[in-house]
Amino acid sequence: MAEISGGCLCGALRYQLRAAPPKISVCHCTHCQKSSGSAFSVNLLTPEADIAFTGEMALYEDHADSGNILKRYFCPRCGSQLGSHNMLRPGMFILRAGTLDDTKALERVALQCWTRSRQPWVRLICDAPEFLEAPKI
Ligand SMILES: [Zn+2]
Ligand SMILES: [Zn+2]
Repeated sequence: MAEISGGCLCGALRYQLRAAPPKISVCHCTHCQKSSGSAFSVNLLTPEADIAFTGEMALYEDHADSGNILKRYFCPRCGSQLGSHNMLRPGMFILRAGTLDDTKALERVALQCWTRSRQPWVRLICDAPEFLEAPKI
């Protein structure tokens, strides 16, 4: 299988993904809305061992009301978000799907989470199962 590559907008941060692209999840939480400046984030939950990054990443420690800590990584030069670490999912990296060089290899959206804070003007973007908060998987 050909390696899958991606990176930030300016090209300072790059990565190679060794495994097949995992399923897509869409997050409508208010922190993803703020940090992306958009209505939701589009994510690929990937084993950390399957990603090789090059370049320096900046980090923001995002504290949720629940006490959970999400480390959000971004390019210090262009601000593109590459993804995050969730302390509840050790060993996994939550990769931002929009940073892939070629998104055609992606399958359909597997789930949508935190739909309780979905923007009211966001209509159904897919028929994937919805969770009002984080799914227990
Ligand atoms: Zn960049
Ligand atoms: Zn989120």
